[in-house]
Amino acid sequence: MIPYGQQSINQADVDAVVEVLRSEFLTQGSVVPAFEKAVASHCGANHAVAVSSATSALHVACLALGLRSGDWLWTSPNTFVASANCGLYCGANVDFVDIDPQTYNLCVDALISKLEIAEKENRLPKVLIAVHFAGQSCDMARISELAEKYSFSIIEDGTHALGGAYKGQAVGNCCYSDITVFSFHPVKIITTGEGGMALTNNEELANYMMRLRTHGITRDISLMTHEAHGPWYYEQVELGFNYRMTDIQAALGISQLSRLDDFVSRRNQLAQRYDEAFVDFPIQLQLVPRDVYSARHLNVVRVSAERHLEIFQRLRTQGIGVSLHYIPVHLQPYYRRLGFTEGNFPHAESYYREAISLPMFAALSESSQERVITVFHQVIHS
Ligand SMILES: *Cc1c(COP(=O)(O)O)cnc(C)c1O
Repeated sequence: MIPYGQQSINQADVDAVVEVLRSEFLTQGSVVPAFEKAVASHCGANHAVAVSSATSALHVACLALGLRSGDWLWTSPNTFVASANCGLYCGANVDFVDIDPQTYNLCVDALISKLEIAEKENRLPKVLIAVHFAGQSCDMARISELAEKYSFSIIEDGTHALGGAYKGQAVGNCCYSDITVFSFHPVKIITTGEGGMALTNNEELANYMMRLRTHGITRDISLMTHEAHGPWYYEQVELGFNYRMTDIQAALGISQLSRLDDFVSRRNQLAQRYDEAFVDFPIQLQLVPRDVYSARHLNVVRVSAERHLEIFQRLRTQGIGVSLHYIPVHLQPYYRRLGFTEGNFPHAESYYREAISLPMFAALSESSQERVITVFHQVIHS
């Protein structure tokens, strides 16, 4: 089976991990800060906080932005559940903004209408999570103007988009947001096994997230309420977690980061080959706006809803490990129990009835891709 996504590990990655295994510190050493510095500098952000996953990054990001009970978090329904769950972790309410039927990202016009209504009803969101679906940035300039007008904070869920760019600048620079979050799960653009990172240009937010990832503990005297009892002294000043990344993971991350640009250009080459092969296919391709360089985490095609299941099954039977991103979050049983139902976000729902993610990863060979194209051609034209 050709998977839809897979990591690419080379000897340098293995050597980097082994070096940490033979060193003094497996965690809380110097490699995590080095990885943070490398990602921050690659993206052009001032601060980066490495954590155990993008899910924990989203959680500490929401907490740092003050999201709590009674507040609203809005995001796209076309995302992994983690982009919405982080709001519930904080005790906040979650709502969604329907997607654009061509880019599959959160639709800014729908956002505007929803904000106008929410303002009248006095339930404006505190935090909006803009998910850069499949690796392509949302229209951040317009979203950040709205954030200014309606005073909400923005988290970019950049888990698909590391290595991508918007208006010529790297995703993660946080020019249009408070915090950007990345994932280093093996199917994502670079990997640390499990792992995540939150980037920001705001030092206070960065320090807050750093405390939250390690139990809410500080050794900074200026934050303490009591005189130090001695050199051992620290204070827990917030309720935090153990969300730390290990140095073993960070070493893999640094090594992977050195190949990020190659990974993303390879993904773009593969995407172009798919697009060229599919010109006459009765399918819809994702529209990539001109000011976006997609990191191409996913290669989604939309087929007719009538044949969706049949096509999907036949591809799987023939060894093409297709997948589906995403089941609309509001239709998950847990979210239905909160009151959501079919028809709430029609564009995300009709997208779901048609979408198929084809294999897309840097290590996908051209011969494997040829096979995907040939099989897809047979299936779709039969
Ligand atoms: C993968 C993913 C996450 C969660 O990442 P983890 O590192 O697995 O916690 C969050 N949002 C989106 C859109 C994702 O695809």
